[in-house]
Amino acid sequence: MTNAIPETRHHLSGSCLCGQVKYSIEAEVRDFYYCHCSQCRKISGSNCAANILVKRVDVAWTGDKHLRRYDVPGRSFTKVFCTHCGSGLPFLNFNGDTLIIPAGSLDVPAPLNPREHIFWADKADWDTTQPLLPTSDGFPTQT
Ligand SMILES: [Zn+2]
Ligand SMILES: [Zn+2]
Repeated sequence: MTNAIPETRHHLSGSCLCGQVKYSIEAEVRDFYYCHCSQCRKISGSNCAANILVKRVDVAWTGDKHLRRYDVPGRSFTKVFCTHCGSGLPFLNFNGDTLIIPAGSLDVPAPLNPREHIFWADKADWDTTQPLLPTSDGFPTQT
């Protein structure tokens, strides 16, 4: 018999593109949104970052020697990536209380659907997203 995981905790696992880095966590999911701000565009190389936020938890890594972290000086923008293939991977936020998981790194179904588009007012002029979800021109409307 396996130990039951409380309902609010989800098993999430994922990997980078080259497969040298893998992760696995049991975590309490807090939020999931698309961020269209200019920093997230740089970090993702795309129109937005799709991030799942979970309560801080230990990550079981494979190949974490390939991880590198970049923090924008003095700002709450971070990218953790595989030094071999460049894929974005989970990282602790600036305050250290939330693990941020780039949704594209998941190898399992997401534990919830994205809730909204944030920093919608800052989106790129070429971003043709027709939002089916609520939009916020700044930070998430609830956390
Ligand atoms: Zn890789
Ligand atoms: Zn952003």
